[in-house]
Amino acid sequence: TPIDFSGQTTIVTGASSGIGAAFARELARRGSDVVLVARRRDRLEELAAALREKHDVRAVAVALDLSEPGAGRRLAAELTRRDLAVDGLVNNAGFGTDGAFHQEDPARLTDEINVNVANLVDLTRAFIEPLRASGRGVLVNLASMAAYTPTPGMAAYAAGKAFVLSFTEALWYESRGTGLRVLSLAPGLTRTEFFDGLRGGTYRGSYQTPEQVVATAMRALDRGRRPSVQSGRLNALTVRLPRLVTRRRAVL
Ligand code: NDP
Repeated sequence: TPIDFSGQTTIVTGASSGIGAAFARELARRGSDVVLVARRRDRLEELAAALREKHDVRAVAVALDLSEPGAGRRLAAELTRRDLAVDGLVNNAGFGTDGAFHQEDPARLTDEINVNVANLVDLTRAFIEPLRASGRGVLVNLASMAAYTPTPGMAAYAAGKAFVLSFTEALWYESRGTGLRVLSLAPGLTRTEFFDGLRGGTYRGSYQTPEQVVATAMRALDRGRRPSVQSGRLNALTVRLPRLVTRRRAVL
């Protein structure tokens, strides 16, 4: 059955652009209050104002750097201070370095693991009890098609996203019977700021829009039958192991 988001409050991380912003717009359109999290406060404030205006929901911007440890605790404290009870969480913030591993800047790698993996776990732990107690919200974790096709240049990124897949699948089982809908979402290439930076901005392959990715996720959530969904197709960046991906898709 379709989820009734009216009167719910959903956190969306990485809501200042791309897929996260599209999630926030769709959740607000369906009646959810939203908490928008990212570093660029101006972008968040602008989107929050637009959503309040258009959908008559509560929309709150919280500027937070998710590469810093302990973000979950800080966000939970901030929401308590604002007297906001949370029903849903979309762990969407993330980025990928795009070069050979031996040439990566170690500090940037640490940030990448913190944003894509460590703080995703931290935020999920910080909010899983209210999410379960609410029993009508969503937990969406952004994986990537890269999790299935670890291409050269994306070692830490692909592995981090594979972590997200396994992590979310286990929580999907643990959440059965609670009413909480849990999903990992694995998009293929999607036209966002992240995409625009790929291969130094020279990538010219096919892509989908953030709205298409969100629509796929929402369909899967409304049905609520599976732990993971893929959106879009493989392409020139994910050239390796296509057979494995196909097999895996059949399994899921
Ligand atoms: P964007 O670059 O458009 O958005 C990334 C978002 O994450 C921004 O809102 C950014 O906000 C936020 N973010 C990044 N670092 C931090 C940080 N340290 N602290 C807080 N927020 C942070 O990329 P996408 O929309 O494409 O990416 C969204 C998710 O989708 C990511 O997890 C990505 O891995 C995944 N994905 C994307 C694909 C694609 O082809 N685009 C394919 C597969 C998966 P700010 O800079 O304001 O902090």
